[in-house]
Order: sequence, then structure tokens, then C-alpha cells
Amino acid sequence: MFSSFPIRRRLRIDDFEIGRPLGKGKFGNVYLARLQENHFLVALKVLFKSQIEKEGLEHQLRREIEIQAHLQHPNILRLYNYFHDSRRVYLILEYAPRGELYKELQKSHRLDEQRTATVRIMEELADALIYCHEKKVIHRDIKPENLLLGLRGEVKIADFGWSVHTLSLRRKTMCGTLDYLPPEMIEGRTYDERVDLWCIGVLCYELLVGNPPFESPSHTETYRRILKVDVRFPSSMPSGAQDLISKLLRYQPFERLALAQVLEHPWVQAHSQR
Ligand code: AMP
Repeated sequence: MFSSFPIRRRLRIDDFEIGRPLGKGKFGNVYLARLQENHFLVALKVLFKSQIEKEGLEHQLRREIEIQAHLQHPNILRLYNYFHDSRRVYLILEYAPRGELYKELQKSHRLDEQRTATVRIMEELADALIYCHEKKVIHRDIKPENLLLGLRGEVKIADFGWSVHTLSLRRKTMCGTLDYLPPEMIEGRTYDERVDLWCIGVLCYELLVGNPPFESPSHTETYRRILKVDVRFPSSMPSGAQDLISKLLRYQPFERLALAQVLEHPWVQAHSQR
């Protein structure tokens, strides 16, 4: 659990100096913190046991910890370890210095910058998800509020499993919760890792257009449009991007473009800086 984290013994809250709050979640807050003995910076997520128990989420939290602690990839937020006291659970997370993807994107106004940034995010997400899927982990909840940025602007997927989806307030503070749901999940069919392909298609659209493709005034309407795959592209959207998004947003999971092909897609290749 500890690779690249400098301390192996069980930790306690006294081992940390707590710094500024990084954000608020439904079950507690996230703080910048550093280890007293070597000044290693982390994000410390503090969850209240009473609230987790009240919502019956102990199981999901355990699973989230179990999954995220075993994933080590440059584009996945590391969970180094956790500890607890009588009232709280503390997650020791990798610190993502550039914060939320959304905020960073609002800064880039030029179209060429926005396209290069979108392609970079798609490449990094494809890499991270190839890694997850090889490990039989499906994220199921890729959306902008679950993406943080590292020092060099690289994407870090945060919040693993549904657990975190329910442990996070971010969607509620932004708007509806349905925009990224793939058809098979809406219809309650069995699903597999190809739900993540749908989600990166929705994300790619949102990054380029500014709102997700099926956004509607009511939940029923959003559901209806997702099930019909009613995507409308603004004329300003480059045809290459339309092609990529159309190949990810397919009702049938088996028709969706595979992650390796996302990396090879001509529009991705044209804007790639690799
Ligand atoms: P959460 O409780 O996971 O929804 O986190 C609440 C907010 O804290 C997020 O929206 C981020 O702005 C911030 N945050 C969470 N984790 C980190 C992290 N590892 N590094 C930097 N900021 C974070």
C-alpha cells in the first residue's frame, strides 16, 4: 500500500501538520497536510463515521479504499493509506496541486488551446482506464468533478467506485446527476467496463462545448435523450471531434470505440503533443 509514501508504520492524526482546507464533501472535509517528520505533502480526507454509518456506506467506503489503494498509475490519484480514530476515518491521498479540472479549463479561452487540452485529457484518461480495465476495475463515474490536476497539469482520476460518488457532494453543488449515465445503467441491464467508454465520450463533448450532450430541463428528458443517443453537435465542433464522440456514444456497448483506438484516432493524433 505504501510504495512511494515515505512512512510505513501506522499513522495517527498527530503525525500530521494540518494546512488549509482544499474542499468540502458531504461526509467531511479535505485538508492539505504534511507529515511532521519529513514534510511530505498529502491531501487528508476526513470522514465522520457517524455520517457514514447513518447512510449505511461502511461497505462502499471499504471497497473504495481497497480498490484505490491497489491502483498505481500517474493519472490515478493515489490513496497511500488510511487510519481512523473513534469518530473519524482519515484517507491519506496524493495531493493534486492544480485542483479541479473545471477551474483550470475556464482559464483557457483560445480554441486551439482548448482542443489540445481536451486531447491530452482524453489520452491520459485512455491510459488510466486501460490500466484499470486490465485490473478488472471499472470506474463507472468518470465526470469532470471527479478529475483533479497534478503539478504539470496531468489528469488524476479521483473517487473510485460508487462509494465515492455517494461520498461526494460535487455533483449536487453543480447540477443534475444523470448526464454521464450510460444507457445500459439507466435501463438496469448488466454492464461491463465499456460504461467508461460512454463516459469519456460525454466528457469529451462537455470539454469542447461547455455542457454535457444530453443536458435537459428535466430528468425524464435527460433519460429519454440518453436512450435515443440524441447528440447534437454545434457547427463549430471540428468534424474529427464529432467522429470520435459519435464512436464512443453508441447505445450498444460493443460498438463503442476501444480505448486503444481512442489513442489512435486521427483527431487525437492531430492534436497530440506526445
Ligand atoms: P470530495 O470530498 O472528494 O468531493 O472533495 C472535495 C473537494 O476537495 C474537491 O472538489 C477538491 O476541490 C478538493 N480535493 C479533494 N481531494 C483533493 C486532492 N487529493 N488534492 C487536491 N484537492 C482535493
